[in-house]
Amino acid sequence: ERVVAPEVDEAERAAEAALRPRRLAEFVGQHVVREQLELVLHAALARGGVPDHVLLSGPPGLGKTTLAMIIAAELGTSVRVTSGPAIQHAGDLAAVLSSLDEGEVLFVDEIHRLARPAEELLYVAMEDFRVDVVVGKGAGANAIGLTLPPFTVVGATTRAGLLPAPLRDRFGFTGHLDFYSSAELEQVLRRSAGLLGVDLADDAAAEIAGRSRGTPRIANRLLRRVRDWAQVRGDGTCDRAAARAALEVYEVDELGLDRLDRAVLRALCVRFGGGPVGLTTLAVAVGEEPETVETVAEPFLVREGLIGRTPRGRVATPRAWEHLDLAAPGGPAS
Ligand code: ATP
Repeated sequence: ERVVAPEVDEAERAAEAALRPRRLAEFVGQHVVREQLELVLHAALARGGVPDHVLLSGPPGLGKTTLAMIIAAELGTSVRVTSGPAIQHAGDLAAVLSSLDEGEVLFVDEIHRLARPAEELLYVAMEDFRVDVVVGKGAGANAIGLTLPPFTVVGATTRAGLLPAPLRDRFGFTGHLDFYSSAELEQVLRRSAGLLGVDLADDAAAEIAGRSRGTPRIANRLLRRVRDWAQVRGDGTCDRAAARAALEVYEVDELGLDRLDRAVLRALCVRFGGGPVGLTTLAVAVGEEPETVETVAEPFLVREGLIGRTPRGRVATPRAWEHLDLAAPGGPAS
């Protein structure tokens, strides 16, 4: 439910779909991956064959699903969508694979969460374009080998390191997506504003981009909240003042920290003098489970250089004190 969460729920997916870039040329940022993919796809098109299987890795909300759709569009083919957790049994995957048309793209989101038997079936299918379908049950069961038409798997994962080597090795191309710069997020926002019919001032785009934690999904979500504010409380114009006021309502500060992030930071600095303090103690101080602090708040605080992890516990960096507008102990009096 956090407005700065990088994940998405089903209701938001529909809003997101309308903002997805459809072609590589519209996809903002990620220049290295984009150029490499362009070569892979256009070479396959020129040869009249299918490209190598593609693995996309990176944190949520950076555009893996979008790129999978784009790959299909660039190849002029359709995409079938599934995910690791959606495939309960290898048979489910065999059914999907055996119904693929020639040249289709099979997008497997969260591919690191495939169960082992499905994973094994997938890498054989990727390598040999073959799948064994089991017909019948018990002693009379028979495996029938089916030859599949050539197709392309696009796998997405937030945890490339969790993929077993045999599966990882079947991907001829791996692209790693990184967090976006503010300038790139401004570009994403201007594009989205155009599609939503929102009149977004440049300084408002900069204001939203700076609070979006390097993530297009969050940028688009904050844009929708600013648009709401402008409609209800303002005169419909999304300028810098509207952006600041709206994001204040949602308690997202200039760095993109929300209430929980700030509570953790403040507890660390004010209650524990900047640490080091253990995770559990810190979590109790903010009334959360240690796991919530560790998985929800901490990664971004560490990424932003606001807190550090040491063997003796969490410590606040000089930037943390500065961000909270507090004097660091031992620092110059202000
Ligand atoms: P998840 O795995 O959580 O679904 P993801 O990495 O697949 O995340 P997407 O669903 O592709 O992320 O992207 C989230 C939203 O951000 C989409 O609405 C998409 O329009 C937008 N977006 C992502 N990358 C870009 C980009 N490079 N340019 C413009 N918009 C983007």
